[in-house]
Amino acid sequence: MTTHQPEPSRAQLQAKACIRCGREGGELVPAGHVYTSTSEGQAPLGWAVVAHPKCITIEETAC
Ligand SMILES: [Zn+2]
Repeated sequence: MTTHQPEPSRAQLQAKACIRCGREGGELVPAGHVYTSTSEGQAPLGWAVVAHPKCITIEETAC
């Protein structure tokens, strides 16, 4: 492994928690996909994740 990024939690990957802040509950909307690599040489898994609208807005205006 060459990258060291924090792994999303199981709840985040299963669209039960916000992919940005990690909190469950509240209004969660589709927030694209996250890809996790399982092991070397294997295709990454794609997950349809969700986020709070507010969290997405913060992310987009950050740059
Ligand atoms: Zn959030």
